[in-house]
Order: sequence, then C-alpha cells, then structure tokens
Amino acid sequence: MMKDYYQKLADLDKKHFLHPTTSIKQQQENGPEFIFTEGKGVRLYDLDGRSAIDGLSSLWNVNIGHGRDEIAQTAYDQMKTLGYSSCFATFSNEPAIQLAAKLAEIAPGNLSATFFTSGGSESNDTAYKLARHYWILKGQPERKKIISRSKSYHGVAMGATSATGLKPFRDFTNSLAPDFCYVDHFSPEALREKIESENPETVAAFIAEPVQGAGGLHIAPEGFFKEIRKICDEYGILFITDEVITGFGRTGTYFGMDHYDVAPDMMCFAKGVTSGYAQLGGVMISEDIHKDLIELSEGTLLHGYTYSGHPMACAVALKNLEIIERENLIENSRLMGLELLNGFKQVQKQRSIVGDVRALGLMGAVEVVKNKKTNERFEDPLAPKIVTEAAKRGLICRSVVFDQQDTVVFAPPLTINQGEIKELIEILNDAILAVEKTVA
Ligand code: PLP
Repeated sequence: MMKDYYQKLADLDKKHFLHPTTSIKQQQENGPEFIFTEGKGVRLYDLDGRSAIDGLSSLWNVNIGHGRDEIAQTAYDQMKTLGYSSCFATFSNEPAIQLAAKLAEIAPGNLSATFFTSGGSESNDTAYKLARHYWILKGQPERKKIISRSKSYHGVAMGATSATGLKPFRDFTNSLAPDFCYVDHFSPEALREKIESENPETVAAFIAEPVQGAGGLHIAPEGFFKEIRKICDEYGILFITDEVITGFGRTGTYFGMDHYDVAPDMMCFAKGVTSGYAQLGGVMISEDIHKDLIELSEGTLLHGYTYSGHPMACAVALKNLEIIERENLIENSRLMGLELLNGFKQVQKQRSIVGDVRALGLMGAVEVVKNKKTNERFEDPLAPKIVTEAAKRGLICRSVVFDQQDTVVFAPPLTINQGEIKELIEILNDAILAVEKTVA
C-alpha cells in the first residue's frame, strides 16, 4: 500500500515538480531519491521507512536540528496573532524590530541596521543595490563594479548569479547583470591588481564568503581577510561578507568573520538565522553607512520585498537564536568540528583515495585524489559516487566537482554529538571503501 503511494508521489514529482539545482534527466530516470516526511535532531526520515543523518543540515541551514516543537509553537503563536503585515512606508512589527536589535548585538564590527529579505540570493542582490545606491548618495555614481572571487557562490537571483564566480552557474543563462568581475581565489594581490586594472574609482565593493561552501569548502589562509580589509580601505571600497552559510554558529563562532577579527561594511545572511524553519535573510550595514544613508537620503529607499520583515519568520529567527545560545550550540559546533576533523583524518589514513581533509567548526570537506603525494585527480570525479554510496548507507552529504574539484562536503546540525559524529565517519569510510574498490 505504502509502496503504491510512494510510486504515485514519485510519478507526480516527475510530471509536475521542476526541482531546484537538480538534473532533470536524473529526476525523470530515477524519480525522487528521498521523499522526506519527518525530521528529528540530526536525522531525516522518508516515506519509504528509511532514515539518514542529515550531514549537510539539508542545505547548510538546519543549524538547530530538525523537529523543534518550540519553533513550531512560536510560528503558530505568531501566525495566530499577526500572520503578516507590511514593513513598507515605516510600518513595523515587534518581531522584526526585536530581531534587528538582536542582530546588531551579535554581528561583527559595528554592523547595526538590517534590511530583511526572504533568503540568501535576495540578500546578495540587496547588498549590491545598497552599495551602489550608497555611492550615488556619496557623489561617486561611477562606483558600480562588484568584485567577487572565482570559486564563490552567492545565489541565483540576477545579481547573485552575476557575482557567483563558479562559471557553470553563470553559463546557465546567456545574459548577466553588468558590472561584475572576478578575482583569483586566495590572493589579496590579485584583488589589488583587479582594482587597479578596473580603475579604483569604478569599484563599489568586494564580496567574499568567510569560508566558501558551495565552491568546495575553502578556508581562508591566515591573514587573508586582514589584508583584504586593508586593500578595500586603501581604495575606499566597501567590503561585503556573505555569511549566508557561515552565520549563526556554523564555523564554531557566531559569524565566520569572528575567526579573522575583521569587520565588514555590509553582511549578507540567511539560512541559519531561522535554521530553515522559515524563509528569511537580510543585509546588515555598518553604523557609518547607516549614518550616511540617514544624512544623504532623499525620497524613498526604492527597494523592498513583500516579505521583508515578515513577522512569523522574524519570530522564528528570534526563537532560533535563543535556542542556539541556550544550548551552547556555537561551542558545540567548535568542539564537534574538531571531532569531525579527527574523524576525517582517520578516514584519510585508512583510505587510499582521500587527499586533503579540512574543517572549521561544523563545515568540513574530504578531497578525493588518485595520488595522495601528487594530488593528482581522477579523470572522472568520484565524489558523486561516494555521496550515492553514503546515501544508501544512511548519510546525506554533497559532492563538489566544479573547477576540477573532487570533494565531499559536510555541515551537520550544530546539535550533533560524539556518537553521531562517529556514525557519520563510519558510514563515510564505508562509502569511500566501496568506491575505492571500483578503482583499485
Ligand atoms: N550565498 C551563499 C554563500 C550561499 O551558500 C547561498 C546558498 O547556498 C546563497 C548565497 C543563496 O541563498 P538562497 O539559496 O537562500 O537564495
């Protein structure tokens, strides 16, 4: 009976559901890999009776884990009292005000005011528009260009796609937003050269993820962001951080930038702000920029989403932050991140096809190599096969194969414990072993 229902849903999925970031052919051939019905803690359960460790917190976002009654109750209470009201034209609501104030308390540097969106892509587009608007107000309208990094991922709205360094995302469409350019990954000197070659007076901002997620989980080398901040200051360019993944405890500190002791001028956030229980994102701006906007603005700030400052989403975010703090999840992320890295190192010792392993808090990666000494890669990446083998064994993770990479990435919920890390590592080791045997 249940099998019939599963099949019926799978058929409807194929016929009517156009999935985000999914191979259409694969969907048509195989149908949905999982039809999830429930989540509890670090685990997801599917209609077919299977369960899996959610090794990526779904999309790097379910920081407090699945199935939280408190969050459901908060959403219910807020929806009952005020399900929605607009924040346009100075209208406001309590949860949005409280959340904006809370964010000012916890954010790096002197970020002090928040523009709310519904997710990370909207946050990125908002940041670029705000940066350019700021320069118009400052009497430097020729400052339009946004510089980003070659392996960056900033989302799929038009600005966010255009800022995304990963070429396949940009090649998906054949017309992008103008005034975006890219620099090589971890070289401050490359940024300086790019600014010079583009003409510094035409550059509005530089944007970077504190730790890159979708682009293959790259952790900045020591001193990188301090150098970046210096260069931005030297040329009077705004420094925007994209903390959509790294925010809210993911890397073992509240924000990714806290590791580097560098204050951005603007910060994009989303995902972990609600742990995925509601659609919310935002852009924070520094007190200095806010003061300038207040002083120089005339007329209306002509940018706003219907759901900017959505009361239910903001109430959920406040409860989510309360849980993160009450349960010391940021410290757990740091400690369990070390466990995860230790586990990766054991796998690296045992498996012949594992190269570099790395983690910062609960953001981690395992690289697949043909030759550990030379770092030579397999012609056909093996990471996707490892991900499939892991899913069969009850672990969800993701492969990154852009730019000749062959990497499996992880970001489990910040609630994960030692036993669950051990289980994750055992499944990973088995999955890699299964794939290793096919190339031995
Ligand atoms: N920025 C970064 C760093 C991301 O990782 C993502 C999504 O993964 C985005 C922006 C886009 O966020 P959203 O999918 O919520 O639009």
